[in-house]
Amino acid sequence: MLSEYITNNQVYLRAFQQIAEKAQITDLENLWPAQQLQCLTDAGISALGIPEIYGGRLVTEQEMAHVYLDCTSACLTTSFVLSQRNAAVQRIVACQSEQLKQRLLPGLAAGEHFATVGISHLSSSGQHLGKPMVVARETELGYVLSGMVPWVTGAIHADLLVTGATLEDGRQILLAIETNTEGVELGKPVSMLSLTCSATGNMHLNEVFVPHENLVAGPVENVMKSGGGGTGSLTTSLIATGVARRAIRLLSEEADLREDLQTQSNQLIAEMTEVLNDLEIAQSDSACHQPELTPQNLRTRSNSLVLRASQAYLTAAKGRGFVLGHAAERTVRESMFFLVWSCPQPVAQAAMREFACSPNWQS
Ligand SMILES: Cc1cc2nc3c(=O)[nH]c(=O)nc-3n(C[C@H](O)[C@H](O)[C@H](O)COP(=O)(O)OP(=O)(O)OC[C@H]3O[C@@H](n4cnc5c(N)ncnc54)[C@H](O)[C@@H]3O)c2cc1C
Repeated sequence: MLSEYITNNQVYLRAFQQIAEKAQITDLENLWPAQQLQCLTDAGISALGIPEIYGGRLVTEQEMAHVYLDCTSACLTTSFVLSQRNAAVQRIVACQSEQLKQRLLPGLAAGEHFATVGISHLSSSGQHLGKPMVVARETELGYVLSGMVPWVTGAIHADLLVTGATLEDGRQILLAIETNTEGVELGKPVSMLSLTCSATGNMHLNEVFVPHENLVAGPVENVMKSGGGGTGSLTTSLIATGVARRAIRLLSEEADLREDLQTQSNQLIAEMTEVLNDLEIAQSDSACHQPELTPQNLRTRSNSLVLRASQAYLTAAKGRGFVLGHAAERTVRESMFFLVWSCPQPVAQAAMREFACSPNWQS
């Protein structure tokens, strides 16, 4: 089961160990995780999920889940950047154009090129504005895009990005765009509560021409609903639980030395085991025997767990854990990320209810 799983693939294990050793300095100095991504490529992880004919290796969802869990426990930045890159790759793999796949996928599978996504404006960011953030008009040879993509992780390090726009009739398209295309203007990466090292910033598209050959999906209404993944997917829950697992492991190491921590440490271990088991069931249960295990349910639980587990570990680590560079303070900052990243409205509402609810102090 996932909950017992630490990969037995020795190559992956070595890669994750090397990645874990760099996690603290990467966070403290806001370094782009170039070396960590190279570790993933060397271990063959860039090739996962891409069909063999393009130089990749197809794996089960379970194997991919283990990669995300172990990689996140080692370093959230690396795992998050990998997830954004994989979101782009997944969309290209699912596209109809054989020519586009042959052109783009071999370089991505070999780790020679890096891709990312800027898609949140299609389904979550700026939805209250009442008008699309990026519009497209079709010409004889392709599309011309204008607007602002609010969030793109690793854009300044990317060769390629998958982004989207809305046509005049309301239908949406996804396109693969080389970052050096005329009219693409990458914003400076922003400083954030955590994950500043993910080099996340915005991107302006100033009348950017993209040929029809680069169409990845659409035109269709709600293009993000096609092709899997998307806001609040099971992958996002695995990543949240990977951070929780790190916090709970460190807490349980403290609890081994301090009896007063044992009850709560054991409670968190039990809850994590349940969440991981349910994530595994949700991934493999194509017959939907347990319909209550929706991506939304699992993300709500993973979010709650990572927030509480990281704060429990900080509480146990006391003032020393509050000092910059300690694993406890980093884990608490990282846990906050899940309140805003790829977080569907019902999950955010569940968090608001949890925050507003006064605990029963008597018990
Ligand atoms: C570190 C990080 C990395 C990310 N990387 C990527 C990436 O690589 N690719 C990608 O596609 N996405 C990425 N995202 C985007 C992410 O998945 C979410 O889409 C994003 O965090 C949503 O926040 P927003 O500020 O854009 O939301 P918005 O909904 O646009 O909210 C912005 C502001 O608008 C106001 N507002 C919101 N709702 C309303 C309302 N109903 N009425 C009135 N005012 C309102 C609030 O003041 C709010 O602060 C990233 C996010 C983060 C934090």
